[in-house]
Amino acid sequence: MTTVSTNQSSEAGTNAGGATGLEDLEMGAARIRVDDKKIINCHADLNQLVPFKYDWAWDKYLTGCANHWMPNEINMSADVALWKSKDGLTEDERLIIERSLGFFSTADSLVANNLVLAVYRHITNPECRQYLLRQAFEEALHTHAYQYIIESLGMDEAKLFNMYREVPSVSTKAAWSLPFTQSLGDPNFKTGTLESDQRLLRDLIAFYVVFEGIFFYVGFTQILSLGRRNKMVGTAEQFQYILRDESMHMNFGIDVINQIKVENPALWTPEFQKEMIKLVKDGVELECQYARDTMPRGILGLNSVMFEDYLQYIANRRLAQIGLPEQYPGATNPFPWMSEIMDLKKEKNFFETRVVDYQAGGTLNWDD
Ligand code: FE
Repeated sequence: MTTVSTNQSSEAGTNAGGATGLEDLEMGAARIRVDDKKIINCHADLNQLVPFKYDWAWDKYLTGCANHWMPNEINMSADVALWKSKDGLTEDERLIIERSLGFFSTADSLVANNLVLAVYRHITNPECRQYLLRQAFEEALHTHAYQYIIESLGMDEAKLFNMYREVPSVSTKAAWSLPFTQSLGDPNFKTGTLESDQRLLRDLIAFYVVFEGIFFYVGFTQILSLGRRNKMVGTAEQFQYILRDESMHMNFGIDVINQIKVENPALWTPEFQKEMIKLVKDGVELECQYARDTMPRGILGLNSVMFEDYLQYIANRRLAQIGLPEQYPGATNPFPWMSEIMDLKKEKNFFETRVVDYQAGGTLNWDD
């Protein structure tokens, strides 16, 4: 019988991995102390949220709740009219819209499945799990948003949802990420050794830094750029809310990665760092290819060369955030307006619907 231990003594044995939160209760066991908490391989009771150790995780959970939104709150009528019009959109713009929706409609499900079936089990900290539960719901909302857009526009659902199996530029990114999650989802996989802990860290970097942190950015920028030109404004507004959530996901992931590094410095070997740099560079290359495939001729204000610069600029930032050297000297940001959106500030109310820094009513302060 597995018994839960509320101190770290049980770690001394062969008990690899950490607690799950589903162990039998041990009556009268020692109470949780903050120092017992660890992001991975923690054997302290996972059902006790407090005392907090990682305030940043709890703060992000609260911010995620404050940012709550629903896809069907957004008016899609202008998009429907434009999509169905004969000459409102060029063929190149239509290609971008279809490929974006084709990629994202399955990509956020893939992220959700990685979170729930692989990552969640191995993150042994209640405040981080609280955020992961929030994030998992946000991934569901994002998939809902893409479904809602595809349905509103009367698109061929089977074609869009199968793009990641049928269109090479869409499928290569999904196919690249799958091996990272597959091993962690194996029920026999346990953390607790150098090799398995590195496997978890590698998956976190692949999904939070590369998949959500690089692979989403050509599609986001393309759609938001259309929105700035008053095209597909409802779709662009949906993407703006999604981007706000996604930048929080990525920042949470980076905090988790850095905290694991602090608590397990042995994992961050020179070879592992080299491997992670290659991972990020491979991601940049795949996303540049996606930009070329989706914009063979460019559209007004965007072309694939600008995206190479942008992706290198983003990759430098991501690498620095996890303590790795920048790989693209002199890369600059050709889309400064994207940073403003990512920083959760509104550039201006160009969607003319409602302010994009909208927050849920439950977080407002009431005067007595
Ligand atoms: Fe996400």
